[in-house]
Amino acid sequence: MTAPHDAMRPLPDMQAEILDSMSPLPVRRIGIREVLGLVLATDVSAPHDLPPFPNSAMDGYAVRAIDVAQAPVELPVLESVAAGEVAASTVQPGTAIQIMTGAPMPEGADAVVKVEDTESIDGAVRILAGVPVGEAVRPAGGDVTAGTTVLTAGTRLGPADLGVLSSLGIAWPDVRKRPVVGILSTGDEVVPPETKTLAPGKIRDANRFLLRGVLEEFGAVVVDFGIASDDPNELRRALAHAAQESDVVVSSGGVSMGEYDVVKLVFADVGDVQFYRVAMQPAKPLGFGTVGGKPFFGLPGNPVSVVVAFEQFLRPALLAMMGAHRLFRPRVVGALADAVRTDPAKAVFLRTEASYHEGAWSARLSGGQSSNVLSALAAANAFAVVPVGVGAVEAGTDLELEMFRWPETRTRTEALVD
Ligand code: AMP
Ligand code: MG
Repeated sequence: MTAPHDAMRPLPDMQAEILDSMSPLPVRRIGIREVLGLVLATDVSAPHDLPPFPNSAMDGYAVRAIDVAQAPVELPVLESVAAGEVAASTVQPGTAIQIMTGAPMPEGADAVVKVEDTESIDGAVRILAGVPVGEAVRPAGGDVTAGTTVLTAGTRLGPADLGVLSSLGIAWPDVRKRPVVGILSTGDEVVPPETKTLAPGKIRDANRFLLRGVLEEFGAVVVDFGIASDDPNELRRALAHAAQESDVVVSSGGVSMGEYDVVKLVFADVGDVQFYRVAMQPAKPLGFGTVGGKPFFGLPGNPVSVVVAFEQFLRPALLAMMGAHRLFRPRVVGALADAVRTDPAKAVFLRTEASYHEGAWSARLSGGQSSNVLSALAAANAFAVVPVGVGAVEAGTDLELEMFRWPETRTRTEALVD
């Protein structure tokens, strides 16, 4: 049996060990419809300019700026060119071509007068305002120049990146595959959520649904391997099955100091998973290693610990496997409204409601801080981080606030003010 480490492991140490042992997922050429949230495996350089040709930024008239310097002036209109067409004629001195937004600039023209500054006359246009050369013209390459690197390997693709790729004709980017994560709960007391009446001593499973939620929101594919009892043989079978079907296996429960800590029992005779006590609260106990050759995370049983461990260990690890360059959530600094006492030997992740008001962030405890208190987690959007070495935080102290959820905050009435 692997003895628990005597000293607690510093959190950054544990995180570094986990990140170091992650192998990158394989690179695939995946269709652009399926790559949101995946990470580019290679730099992408622009095969052509964007825009590909000079075009009009406005509906109006393509002219020579010099011809309209003395506005108002009347110019004969040679033709009209819409987006998707090419003008047949050239803008000769003293003429104009009507042009729509996105249509290619006709030969000879060097500026566009917007339609609001014109009056249409039969076969001609009256230009009411002069414009400088280049006015309302989007030059070729003004957005992206051919040959430049537009997106680098390690970029996690967001909607705007998909727009860039698509505009450049890169419909099958090289990305690392989407991780498949197998999840299971452990414990004789844990029953499915559909259970109508709880028998004495039983509780409904929270962790598989927390994990499904955070993983799906993250963009992983979740495979649910249900609830394993505290019988080591049953858990062994479930873990082996999960390892076959997943890139990463995650369990909850059974990793602390109890006599029935089943995950520990399963790995007692095989050295593939180590058990740690990390200097953090919640989520001190952690099992980490491999099962069936796949990375395995044995998260604690308490639901709040599950989410804290997901945020600190599993989420960055998944991003590392996906090849991402940036692995950790954004933090802001804000004053904690409450006074708290914490264990100075641990980094403490307080569940808080953080908000921004008149130029400053602040946070207040979102409820009870025991690791079983789901309601405080549900009301929280940030972890206020009390660093190792600090045991007493006075009200009003600035702390780093790790924004683990950043949902809409402003109501219609708050947002729609002039
Ligand atoms: P354990 O580490 O297995 O002793 O679990 C620690 C605590 O978390 C115990 O109170 C368990 O009942 C609880 N727990 C374990 N698994 C779950 C689960 N899936 N959903 C809700 N609570 C759980
Ligand atoms: Mg248990």
